[in-house]
Amino acid sequence: MSIEDGTFVQKYDLLGCIQCGRCTGGCPVTVRTDLNVRRFVYDTVDDDHLEELSEKHEIWDCTTCNTCAVRCPKGLDPFEVLIGLRSLQVEEGNIQPTARDALESIFNNGNPWGKPRARRCDWMQDIDGVDEVRILEEGEKVDVLIHTCCTACYDPRIMPIAQSLVKVLEKAGVDYGFVGEEESDCGSEVRRLGEEGLFEMLDEDNTELFGQYEYERLVCLSPHCFNSFKNEYANIDKPVLHYTQLIAELIEDKKLEFKGEIADKVVFHDPCYLGKKNLVFDEPRYVLSQIPGVELLEFNRSKERSLCCEGGGGKMWVESESKMERLAEVRMADASSLGAKIVAVACPFCLLTLEDALKAKGLEEEMRVADILELLDEVL
Ligand code: SF4
Ligand code: SF4
Repeated sequence: MSIEDGTFVQKYDLLGCIQCGRCTGGCPVTVRTDLNVRRFVYDTVDDDHLEELSEKHEIWDCTTCNTCAVRCPKGLDPFEVLIGLRSLQVEEGNIQPTARDALESIFNNGNPWGKPRARRCDWMQDIDGVDEVRILEEGEKVDVLIHTCCTACYDPRIMPIAQSLVKVLEKAGVDYGFVGEEESDCGSEVRRLGEEGLFEMLDEDNTELFGQYEYERLVCLSPHCFNSFKNEYANIDKPVLHYTQLIAELIEDKKLEFKGEIADKVVFHDPCYLGKKNLVFDEPRYVLSQIPGVELLEFNRSKERSLCCEGGGGKMWVESESKMERLAEVRMADASSLGAKIVAVACPFCLLTLEDALKAKGLEEEMRVADILELLDEVL
């Protein structure tokens, strides 16, 4: 976008702001960085200052966790102003090299991790008890089309989670299929880094790709992909689900039989893009509560008040300067004081950031971080 495209006032409804400060009051990164989102909402009313405001380093501190939008009494999305300012910088090529590399890799290879497209399906090899993962041919019919998430395709820590999903689907007898090597990044982080043109390209390409199949529902492994396809793509007309929603349904329909137990205290960390952004709070808790032996705890800050792990908003590729403890470390300290043995997650970014924090806090002996799919894999 450019300043000539229209003012921020119109695009973000800035005159609706009453400067109450609830956005900044709720912002989890305000305490550890210079970011004051209320101030940006106020200052961007004046078009003449947009370029100068976009040069402020703190626009890159926002994790797009959605807390400010949840708290705003006027229904604004304050963080979108920061994404708009990022767009101005991206247009000028002013972006951290790590983020630039991620965007270039998405354009060239369909994933942000600098990996070749030809390796996108390597994770499908050697899955215990699964002869072959179904990759769909053009025109094929299937009940559930799965979008894997680039991080699950390439990150060795996350690949087993995609494998666990396949095992669960096989056990429940779900009619499912994958796109294969042609699958591309959903564009969630692209949009949040301010690269609107690339996001629009991914929207068109992925919509055309999914349209090659006759599917009933699109199911996503990551809440970030789920949110993009569900809320931001212009032309996906089929229901989009996060995997926890599908599994909750399978358990309710008695399609899954638990053979083992996990006799531990488990606390669920709400991913921002599943919880605060899409209000999916119950299904992950229901799935965990059905695992024999699990004692489900709650964080003090949970659901709409959940603490962000700082993995979203493009922050996997943009560093913030702060001497204060990372939010993920605060989260692990909270889990420790609750007496949790397992911090259950349902998002690849949450898993990576919280597991790093677990190590940084030296809590590996005391507890573990696990995706819900990994826990299911242990008991089905
Ligand atoms: S919460 Fe909403 S109304 Fe209040 S200052 Fe922030 S943007 Fe303005
Ligand atoms: S989205 Fe989250 S991190 Fe960004 S300004 Fe809003 S509350 Fe702060």
